[in-house]
Amino acid sequence: MMACTAIVGINWGDEGKGRMVDLLTEAFDIVVRFQGGANAGHVVINKYGKFDLHLLPSGVCRPGVVNVLGNGVALDPETLVKEIEDQKGIEITPDNLKISDRASLLLPWHRELDMLEEARLKDRKSSTKQGIAPFYSDKNQKKTIMAGELFYPERLKRHLKELRTWKNLTLNKMYGAEEVTEKELNSWLNKYCEQIKPFVQDTSSYLFKAESDHKRILFEGQLGALRDLDYGIYPFTTSTSTLASYAPIGSGMPGVEIDRIIGVTKSYSTCLGDGPFVCEYTGREADQWREMCGEKMSDNGERVVRIGPIDLVATKYGTEVQAATELALTKLDVLSNLDEIPLCTAYKLNGELITDMPFPAALDDCEPVYETMKGWKCDISGIRNWWELPEEAKAYVNRIEHSVGQVIRWISVGPERHSIIRRG
Ligand code: GDP
Ligand code: MG
Repeated sequence: MMACTAIVGINWGDEGKGRMVDLLTEAFDIVVRFQGGANAGHVVINKYGKFDLHLLPSGVCRPGVVNVLGNGVALDPETLVKEIEDQKGIEITPDNLKISDRASLLLPWHRELDMLEEARLKDRKSSTKQGIAPFYSDKNQKKTIMAGELFYPERLKRHLKELRTWKNLTLNKMYGAEEVTEKELNSWLNKYCEQIKPFVQDTSSYLFKAESDHKRILFEGQLGALRDLDYGIYPFTTSTSTLASYAPIGSGMPGVEIDRIIGVTKSYSTCLGDGPFVCEYTGREADQWREMCGEKMSDNGERVVRIGPIDLVATKYGTEVQAATELALTKLDVLSNLDEIPLCTAYKLNGELITDMPFPAALDDCEPVYETMKGWKCDISGIRNWWELPEEAKAYVNRIEHSVGQVIRWISVGPERHSIIRRG
């Protein structure tokens, strides 16, 4: 029984969550995004084509699945409208996409403030420039607009005016930037907000009713455990909770029990953006790994993906804070040409070996401890059965399971929907 299940990231993001959501939606009716915004990308490849999703839940790639953007997301009308228009082959309608009336709107100045702050920071940039941090700061100080307010035009006008007057002080007096005019805001309302209105409803009632009708609900996480605002590598985190425990709150089903938490982890490590990344390779070795793993550039082509072998310290920690009940290991196929598979099995801190994640500030002083295991040296991308995997590949999977202390139930050997090995 998979009534309520969450799929979440165990590491720094880009573990292949979208790909797992797309696969597992065969057993679900509804997919809900509960946090984050358009600041991430999920790539899904199936018989309908290749999808590059940002804000839309990955369930849109399967006809018949209803997708919900919960109250916890950063609802950016502009990127959402563009993303809906970009979908080829799949039509997004109020039947397969529902937006919570309690989701706050990411306003035009949030992206602008992000850029202004990045410019101030010069070379210490770490934001995706999607306005996420300014958005969540404002939401927490109660200075955004909820999507449902679009249905109360008079109130909306007053509320927006108040916020604009307040925000112009920051734009102008703090950053010396131009003020946002009423005309600009009206044009944003007409161009983008009007288009998302048909999708907006009380999704909380919808979800609770669906649950009582025994519909199966999948919560889709964004980014990974190490980017969680409270439990990640603060301050190199995102501005919201990426943990499965937040799913009930951010999706509109407070108190709902999640039966299964599937943590997605990759066969090697990547980290996009700044922050401590103990297992990291540098120089030529890093370039070779990026090449081998198909990890050249980020979504926007600006930031290079940082790379290293699987980090068992971080992966164990991620599994714990996600309270994952099982794991999916992705991209095992990309390691197939290696004679030896490296693993970061511990950190060295002040002369001592540690396998538990230390306090974020201590990470700067940690050195990686690498070990290697024998490679399998053959193409495994066509394998669909655990017993057919080479012994060396099985040994690698078993080693991760053992160190992390959680069962690996899925092994992904390719980006396509059915390139998967299910165990037990
Ligand atoms: P997400 O943000 O966690 O959804 O992950 P992304 O989609 O951003 O990044 C994962 C990348 O790896 C995508 O380009 C996927 O198409 C690709 N991918 C996922 N699983 C596999 C796999 O098992 N093998 C290979 N070769 N690629 C994979
Ligand atoms: Mg991604």
